[in-house]
Amino acid sequence: MDKTKFYLEENEMPTAWYNIQADLPEPLPPLLHPQTKEPTILPPFLFVDELNKQEFSKERYVDIPEEVQAIYRSWRPTTLFRAYRLEKALDTPAKIYYKFEGTSPAGSHKPNTAVAQAYYNKKAGIKRIATETGAGQWGSALAMACMYFGIECKVYMVRVSYEQKPYRRNLMEVWGATCVPSPSTDTNIGRKILAEDPDSPGSLGIAISEAVEDAATHDNTRYSLGSVLNHVLMHQTIIGQETRKAMMEKVGAYPDMIVGCIGGGSNAAGMFLPFLKDKLDGKQKNLKIIVVEPTSCPTVTKGPLAWDYGDVAGMAPIALMHTLGHTFVPPPVHAGGLRYHGMSPIVSHCVKLGLIEARAVPQLATFEAGVQFARTEGYISAPETNHAIRVVIDEALKCKAEGKSKVILLAHSGHGHFDMAAYDQYLSGKLQDYDYPEAMVKEALAHLPQVSR
Ligand SMILES: *Cc1c(COP(=O)(O)O)cnc(C)c1O
Repeated sequence: MDKTKFYLEENEMPTAWYNIQADLPEPLPPLLHPQTKEPTILPPFLFVDELNKQEFSKERYVDIPEEVQAIYRSWRPTTLFRAYRLEKALDTPAKIYYKFEGTSPAGSHKPNTAVAQAYYNKKAGIKRIATETGAGQWGSALAMACMYFGIECKVYMVRVSYEQKPYRRNLMEVWGATCVPSPSTDTNIGRKILAEDPDSPGSLGIAISEAVEDAATHDNTRYSLGSVLNHVLMHQTIIGQETRKAMMEKVGAYPDMIVGCIGGGSNAAGMFLPFLKDKLDGKQKNLKIIVVEPTSCPTVTKGPLAWDYGDVAGMAPIALMHTLGHTFVPPPVHAGGLRYHGMSPIVSHCVKLGLIEARAVPQLATFEAGVQFARTEGYISAPETNHAIRVVIDEALKCKAEGKSKVILLAHSGHGHFDMAAYDQYLSGKLQDYDYPEAMVKEALAHLPQVSR
């Protein structure tokens, strides 16, 4: 009997995160202060010291605290699956594996970093955390993490998602958090944006600015980011390390190709970074890594590698990253988690070094892929994940055309149970593709900060 699921025991779960900064052939560029434009750390009024330390650490492995491991064990190690029925439906000689992060209590990979961040805040004596959320996955992950450690949680949720996905808000509230639609009347920046555009659909950039302002103006409060930053990507390497171990020790195979979707880059990088180490060590020279984004928010495939602010208000540090401009508001596609103007510096850097490649796919094609996955594998995937599934199917069909039996590994970032309204629109023919908003991007790129480096 061929095995379908490849499990690690709890005591086989990795006990350290992997830090790619120890092995990059060229170091990451610095973060710059939004006003002075000189190299800076993360603002200490937003991030506790331990997370700031991790952001710039060059240590190859960082121990996962026992308290964090104990919570991880509620759902980790997650399962690695072989997608036999999808392979059969595609009639492909490719072997497709997927690591499924949808079994966390919040339904995605995001608790991997939320739990770590809540832990370090608790340890530093912080009582309250403010954050933003796009589709609601990050807000719910952080709400859950704060619940475990008895920390108050305030979530600014992008308005379009708040309206499209009311149950995510309920999830946050069940875990004890407060959730408001962004732009909100709770901050200066939110009030300013509402005054100019009362119907603003919101964006991840706007919500970040609100959460940052909240943390900066409340006692004993810090901010928390669900993606993009180096320490977040490092926390997610639990995914790739578990997968690498399971592939090598339980499957007895190594991927030819790794595919993941990118909003800020954390789940894809969490999967590919531990494998990228093999490539950098000269052991897996042919490993191909593909990251996938929406054509309506094509940060890597269309945006330049440029210095830009992490948020709309220009309060966050400036990073060298692929960006569509910090003032860019993407069309309201259902993959809310992929609607961010920038891309994590690590992913941007890996693209620049030619270590990974990016692809953009349109919305309808991603839902077509997601439905095909559900009708073969059973699992209903998040609209974000469907972007990666699209490319996995495309690549598996290419294998068929070329008669090649490649091992394709999918980073499956989460389930889509809170996204049924989007599936409903797709199935009833109401879902549309959005063109690349070229004029809006051009306008936004005119507002990049002037940096002379
Ligand atoms: C948030 C989210 C993403 C995108 O975020 P990354 O940081 O790029 O991983 C992808 N998939 C799911 C299910 C998400 O919740």
